[in-house]
Amino acid sequence: MISEKLMKSLNEQINYEFYSAHIYLAMAAFCANEDLDGFSNFFKVQAEEEKFHAMKLFDYVVEMGGRVTISAFDEPQNDYTSMLDVFMKGLEHEKLVTQRIYNLTDLAMEEREHATISFLKWFIDEQVEEESTFNSIIKKLERISDNSNALYMLDAELAQRTFTPPAQ
Ligand code: MG
Repeated sequence: MISEKLMKSLNEQINYEFYSAHIYLAMAAFCANEDLDGFSNFFKVQAEEEKFHAMKLFDYVVEMGGRVTISAFDEPQNDYTSMLDVFMKGLEHEKLVTQRIYNLTDLAMEEREHATISFLKWFIDEQVEEESTFNSIIKKLERISDNSNALYMLDAELAQRTFTPPAQ
């Protein structure tokens, strides 16, 4: 039986994942406006992933007999100074998400809620990947600096990213 407190935190995380999708859509729009369609594609796919995370939590809360409620969220940042700035902000955001997942897991552990601990393990592993993806693109952008040819090559690489829902 999941406590009201844990259910409330899971529900907050559902909304935070949707908020994450909004942040990445704002980044996708910024990149599109810079004529970097590959970068824009990267963030559109990222937004899809976030919606997938939200719905995974949504289905879990319903399965455990909880009531999901959807709330409003803050307006995401729409303007950035460079592609490096976009990815640095993205990494910063992912670090916040990781901390939230850790806090949720701590709460589930305090309550000895083993089903939820097991469920959240997927999110812990996912966060390792998310941070690593952002870190590796940041490294590339730092090396690229103001070489526009290299930037367009990375743009072409990021155009290849597609969203594949992970196996359940
Ligand atoms: Mg997420």
